[in-house]
Amino acid sequence: MKTLGIIGGMSWESTQTYYSLINQGVKERLGGLHSAKILLYSVDFAQVEVLQASGDWGTAAKQLCSIAQGLEAGGAEAILIATNTMHKLAEQVQSAITVPLLHIADAAGEQLRLDGRKKVALLGTKFTMEEAFYTDKLVNDYGLDVIVPSQAQREIVHKVIYDELCLGQIRQTSRVAYCEIIDDLVHQGADSIVLGCTEIPLLITADDSSAPLYDTTALHAQAAIEFMLSET
Ligand code: GLU
Repeated sequence: MKTLGIIGGMSWESTQTYYSLINQGVKERLGGLHSAKILLYSVDFAQVEVLQASGDWGTAAKQLCSIAQGLEAGGAEAILIATNTMHKLAEQVQSAITVPLLHIADAAGEQLRLDGRKKVALLGTKFTMEEAFYTDKLVNDYGLDVIVPSQAQREIVHKVIYDELCLGQIRQTSRVAYCEIIDDLVHQGADSIVLGCTEIPLLITADDSSAPLYDTTALHAQAAIEFMLSET
């Protein structure tokens, strides 16, 4: 089994899901007492959030690159950034290391393509929904048409992530608000919903949604398991 380096803590509410899913996957595949070989660097998310909100992506990139290099030096054979948003810095992180970075949008894109999806709706932080780094990958590498909620709806989705989900708060009122947004996106022709924030699956499950959900936390964890157990 290969060793995985995880940059987590963004937030730890979803990093614990990754840890659990990857270990469960390895146990299912190898059986017995097998468990995943993981190096985890869990950041202080309060510090990262300040950099995000102030637009200081240069400092954030330096920090993530240095963490990734430390994980590689410690024996990680691939790096996983356990959040969608920080994939804004994926190219910088990949160029700072010699092992592969397992990109979360590839994990999502490959499953969407496999399932024949054409028009996907993306939910995530404002960074993920509004900037090109994530949608461009789904459009250019996977031939998908990507739509996002209206500006007012994006505000709601973003605020719920930072003010509730990253703090471990799961509220029914927010679930209802998300479901209304999903319904709107389905009316606009979305054939699937990409949960492009690793905490959204804590709030929304398949039963809540009027279209199939693509849970990026689970898909990213699955890609990590495949990598760790691959022969090559
Ligand atoms: N975990 C979230 C994501 O997948 C948001 C927190 C962050 O900004 O990293 O985008």
